[in-house]
Amino acid sequence: MSEVASDYDYDLFVIGAGSGGVRASRIAAGHGARVAVAEEYRVGGTCVIRGCVPKKLLVYGAHFAEDLNDAAMFGWDVPVKRFDWPVLRDHVQAEVKRLEGLYGQTLASNKVETFLERATIVGPNLVRLASGRTVSAAKILIATGARPFLPDVEGIEHAITSNEVFHLERLPKRIVIVGGGYIANEFAGIFHQFGSHVTLVNRSDTILRGYDESMRDRLLQISLAKGIDFKFNASFSRIDKREDGMLHLALDGCDDLEADAVLFAVGRKPNVEGLGLEEAGVDLGTRGEVKVDKANRTNVPSIFAVGDVTDRIQLTPVAIREGQAFADTQFGSGGVVEVDYDCVPHAVFSHPPIASVGLTESDARNRYGTVKVYTSDFRAMKNVMAGRNERSLYKLVVDEASERVIGIHMIGPDSPEILQAAAIAVKAGLKKADFDATVALHPTMSEELVLMH
Ligand code: NDP
Repeated sequence: MSEVASDYDYDLFVIGAGSGGVRASRIAAGHGARVAVAEEYRVGGTCVIRGCVPKKLLVYGAHFAEDLNDAAMFGWDVPVKRFDWPVLRDHVQAEVKRLEGLYGQTLASNKVETFLERATIVGPNLVRLASGRTVSAAKILIATGARPFLPDVEGIEHAITSNEVFHLERLPKRIVIVGGGYIANEFAGIFHQFGSHVTLVNRSDTILRGYDESMRDRLLQISLAKGIDFKFNASFSRIDKREDGMLHLALDGCDDLEADAVLFAVGRKPNVEGLGLEEAGVDLGTRGEVKVDKANRTNVPSIFAVGDVTDRIQLTPVAIREGQAFADTQFGSGGVVEVDYDCVPHAVFSHPPIASVGLTESDARNRYGTVKVYTSDFRAMKNVMAGRNERSLYKLVVDEASERVIGIHMIGPDSPEILQAAAIAVKAGLKKADFDATVALHPTMSEELVLMH
């Protein structure tokens, strides 16, 4: 440990026990620091409690709808198909509870003291707990994450967000999903597979801004063919709840809609309110994010921040790396560790999913001028036999001068599972010739990656 500060109650006080906070706490304690963490809700944070994990379990649940339909062509007779939302919902919550317990155990076994209450910063080295106690720490880490943003629309209290969607009492027959980003497209797929009628409403004329255009177009095409409705260039003027519980949605840019539920997924806001940041003199950016340098340090030398609250890349593995880098830098002996934000793979768990790493075709053209693009547009073998007319699309973006593969974009079954391995090649700067030199693994979907000419 580079610095021992015995004048303080703790060497490190972490606010927020999500992905970034737990990793930072555990690693700092491993380096010998005396660490405490405060969590006002549930240990695990967004990813474990109301994000990646329960969402992915719903995605698995949703896939059964297609698999059960396709099963007939593979000789399986499934006489009764009935989906029971409360069964899936409760099993998902039981798994979340199990993981929450494991996260708590990890903290305890690493000798991190956990306070299950809200903490606020009352000085550069002071934290006040909701129960009234004030503790001191040589360093304070803000890892409070982000929460769904809700726009100022009349009747917005009738809407739900990704926080509530996992707990719905019953499956909505009609759901309107607002936004065209990650959460909107993932839940559009989930609810559609469960049998709800889904309408996705976005303020612009696009979905998944920032993803490669061909992937976005393909997802839109497939989603429309499945029966998901899209309303573009539309905005909400008000939401009314009728006596029978039905929601009436008044929109500008398209006809009014009626629904049993309306889910807003229009971005997330850093959790900074009421944390004492202004009083402590911590600078915030224009989006309300905590501003930090490459070593995750704010303008107040003893206060640091990692994860979604810093609004760099809002992804769990990135928050984990930031937490690890912070702890290693501040409490390890190897000097400053910086997170490498280049080539971070990312995926949308839509139906089918999209996965990407590196530059999109248009970004690559802007940056490199001349690029070569290779695509494979195919129907997965399983889809062909099942009579499912859904085509996958893989794209390699290659810098013409260096011949390096600088982007891979995929939409199709299991594309996130495949992309993780392919991302290693992009990160390593491998060339198209290296892909060509690799013998295909047959019969797979991923072999398309080495067969593009
Ligand atoms: P996104 O940032 O992905 O998308 C926001 C959407 O809302 C866009 O379509 C945007 O429109 C629209 N929008 C933005 N502001 C407004 C506004 N004021 N009024 C109306 N519409 C608006 O947000 P999400 O909430 O879906 O997800 C938040 C973040 O969480 C993601 O960026 C991602 O980092 C993370 N996440 C990651 C997942 C994964 O890795 N699989 C899954 C879920 C979340 P426009 O089309 O104009 O851009």
